[in-house]
Amino acid sequence: MSASDRIRALLFPPKCSSCKTLLSWYEAGRSNGALCGACAEKWESAQRELCIFCGETVNRCACLTEELKHARAEALYKAVYYVHGKRDPVQNRVIFQIKNTRSTRTVQWLASLLCVHLERIRSERGDGAVLLTFVPRGKQAKLDSGTDQAEALARALSKLSGIPVRKVFQRNPHAKRPQKTLSQTERIRVAKETFVLRPEMGKEVCGKTVVLVDDIVTTGASMAACGRLLRGAGASFVCLSVAVSDVICDTGAFPPKKK
Ligand SMILES: [Zn+2]
Ligand SMILES: [Zn+2]
Repeated sequence: MSASDRIRALLFPPKCSSCKTLLSWYEAGRSNGALCGACAEKWESAQRELCIFCGETVNRCACLTEELKHARAEALYKAVYYVHGKRDPVQNRVIFQIKNTRSTRTVQWLASLLCVHLERIRSERGDGAVLLTFVPRGKQAKLDSGTDQAEALARALSKLSGIPVRKVFQRNPHAKRPQKTLSQTERIRVAKETFVLRPEMGKEVCGKTVVLVDDIVTTGASMAACGRLLRGAGASFVCLSVAVSDVICDTGAFPPKKK
């Protein structure tokens, strides 16, 4: 820990991003310094869940949701599975925290986990060929929580990797709010109307690999809509998300296999 980090830790004692207990010096100083020892263990075991499609652990799996396949995404990298309909799993609590509070510590820690994938993508494509962006949150959601967690993650990833981040999309203020109860076709249509490529970004993304960042992917409809805009502008895209929902929805997401 640097001197300024120590002073900050004295003034604002760091708490576990999952269970909210105060962290010990030892816990706060570790590389996963956002979680207490007990939660860190649970998180690590969540990262070792297996993908039923490729057999890899979730933090190595690149499998796509059906909607992302249709949008011709190259890969979807994630750290953990979100357990649908539950509050208590550590990964659900962490996602809840970054969605609803401006928690720099948690975001930085998650970015450091996802950065491995980013570094690999850059080494494959070469310097200057990769750009970071994010699925922007709606205005109301941003006002309610005071944060756009996908943007915060993308910015933290950019700081760690040196890869530039651009605000490539804006939301159409007249688009309907996406509803989880919609049918697949409806969901795709709503997502399509929700995002617009900012006109000045067309040239910038053309010919690049754009890494699209979000906090959680359920069906992948929003990411797919953004990805289609990227492909239309001559870019390819890779998706990077903290979590992918384990729900077996009508689009066929990822039911993880317990060890
Ligand atoms: Zn904890
Ligand atoms: Zn997989």
